[in-house]
Amino acid sequence: MNCPKCQSENFQIEKPCAECGFQGNAPKLAELERLQWLLNQMDGWEELRLDAATLSELKKMYKTRYRDALVGLGLRLPPLTPAEAEKAWVELAHLDALFEKAAEWETAGYLNPEMAGQDPLKAQRAYAAELRERLEEHPHLVILETDQTKLKTISFLLDHVDLLASREWFKSKHEIELVVAPLMEQIVAITADNAPEL
Ligand SMILES: [Zn+2]
Repeated sequence: MNCPKCQSENFQIEKPCAECGFQGNAPKLAELERLQWLLNQMDGWEELRLDAATLSELKKMYKTRYRDALVGLGLRLPPLTPAEAEKAWVELAHLDALFEKAAEWETAGYLNPEMAGQDPLKAQRAYAAELRERLEEHPHLVILETDQTKLKTISFLLDHVDLLASREWFKSKHEIELVVAPLMEQIVAITADNAPEL
């Protein structure tokens, strides 16, 4: 089997991985290998005229077992509890807003050309991927947009502008101003809407 941690070939269950040093409980690894084999087999089952709903149920069942096996080997974090999931959906919505903005900033040419080809949000993207993985079993929580949630998103964005600015990801002070100004305008517009009428 391939190393379940780094995917390098020629991994042997009884020995630590030659590449990354990973070593896991042998019976658990053997189970993981069996589940992997079964899931691979199942990809070919579509040609058999099986009932599609049954096949998808079976796949789901063994994917869950596969995931649990990875969690058991410490290779994946356990799924989130419902309360944690609720928070995570909000976090993920903030992160997605940030990724969208960052793409706009890049297209607009606001980023420091010295950092070309590098991702300023690498860590945030890895974290978002981890959250998505842990949220797989949770129904998608649609976050109702209110002035409150909009303000929270903007403040999240501004915090990240500060962070990126401190790491010199923007071309110059001028670009930082161009990024901050529309966000500040949004805050003013939202808070003005809420101001008591005179
Ligand atoms: Zn490895």
